[in-house]
Amino acid sequence: MDLELSESQLAWQKKAKEFAADKIAPHIEKLETDYNFRQELFQQMVEEDFFTFAIPPNEEGDLIAYLLALKEISKVDAGIAVAMSVTSMVAEAIWHYGNSNQQERYLAKFSSGECIPASFALTEKNAGSDIKAIQTSYSIDPNNPDIYILNGEKQFITNGDSAKVILVVAKLDPSPKNNPDVFSAFLVDYQTQGLTIPKKERKLGLLTANLVSLKFDHCKLSKNQLLGKEGMGFKIALSSLDSGRLSVAAQSLGIAEAAFEAAVEYAKSRHQFGAPISQQQAVAFKLADMRVKLDAGELLIFKAVWLRSKGLPSTAEASTAKLFCSEAANWIVNEALQIHGGYGYIKDYLVEKYFRDARVTTLYEGTSEIQRLIIARHLLA
Ligand SMILES: Cc1cc2nc3c(=O)[nH]c(=O)nc-3n(C[C@H](O)[C@H](O)[C@H](O)COP(=O)(O)OP(=O)(O)OC[C@H]3O[C@@H](n4cnc5c(N)ncnc54)[C@H](O)[C@@H]3O)c2cc1C
Repeated sequence: MDLELSESQLAWQKKAKEFAADKIAPHIEKLETDYNFRQELFQQMVEEDFFTFAIPPNEEGDLIAYLLALKEISKVDAGIAVAMSVTSMVAEAIWHYGNSNQQERYLAKFSSGECIPASFALTEKNAGSDIKAIQTSYSIDPNNPDIYILNGEKQFITNGDSAKVILVVAKLDPSPKNNPDVFSAFLVDYQTQGLTIPKKERKLGLLTANLVSLKFDHCKLSKNQLLGKEGMGFKIALSSLDSGRLSVAAQSLGIAEAAFEAAVEYAKSRHQFGAPISQQQAVAFKLADMRVKLDAGELLIFKAVWLRSKGLPSTAEASTAKLFCSEAANWIVNEALQIHGGYGYIKDYLVEKYFRDARVTTLYEGTSEIQRLIIARHLLA
């Protein structure tokens, strides 16, 4: 495994760092509240190719380049990063599972910005960790065998209010007994009749990323909106989650590294008892432990990507990287806030935002408990 970054990987890392500093950092408050302004930012990201540069047939970037870029954007704003990662996840699923017609049609729209952002709709009220409990259903239109009818409600959908295309996983109705392949994936256009947004969530962090529920009421879909074949929905969902977990790992490290850098600066500049607090061993050791966790997390991501690039199984390794990086991020932001003392609790200091943004990383794309289940299943198999 070669840990030296290529010129192209370094170039994407630098480009993302500069973009985040110039185009995102000065505007975070506006991005949190102004829908049109956020869409303008997404369009600039399209022009810079951030949504698709690592997705074949685009040969400009690889998965490492993409994760480095995502980490740099997460260092400045994890909400914009999650919009980027969910969109890329949908584009990647279309690349892997779409027919040539869908690939041509949708990937061109991702490149032009027409499909930006996209959403991935799996979770439901009673189907969170237990994704097989999905109740959103599809059936064949009794009046037209070429039409599917989609009904149900999805919960906690990132980008859902602005998505141009939504990858929806649904269950065949009626479902034949003893057939596990009853789930299918569909590409749903945002203008589909019967699609509504019953609720916009108010949340703790990631304030630049919107989260909504989506209701499908007798939505009519054509046959060419089916992604892959009927019965492949679960496979598509799981493989998307594998790559999504690496994105969350990189996002976690981005937030954590920003908090670490803020803590180092603060510890060097804050004086108590006549000296910088960094000279207190209790503080310096926290910083050392942060650095160790950041480096270990990065290596776990590299290992999972390396296995994936060789075509070897990497599901457990993606879960390992996600579990470790998200839990490390939560520990790091907490300790970084502690080093800031009372000022860490105040909005004037960015560590307050990092603390809020990191919290979700052990929850979405599978909770820490679910990652442990996956890892344990693999090691005991
Ligand atoms: C900000 C945000 C963005 C999101 N974006 C998306 C999105 O774009 N698309 C999408 O489809 N979903 C999205 N989600 C949903 C997210 O993936 C789920 O919230 C997550 O999978 C957990 O499901 P749940 O919230 O229903 O928790 P539950 O499954 O109800 O879990 C509750 C608790 O029980 C534990 N638990 C459950 N089952 C087990 C078990 N078998 N063993 C041990 N412990 C268990 C969990 O670990 C957790 O601690 C998002 C969520 C958030 C908060």
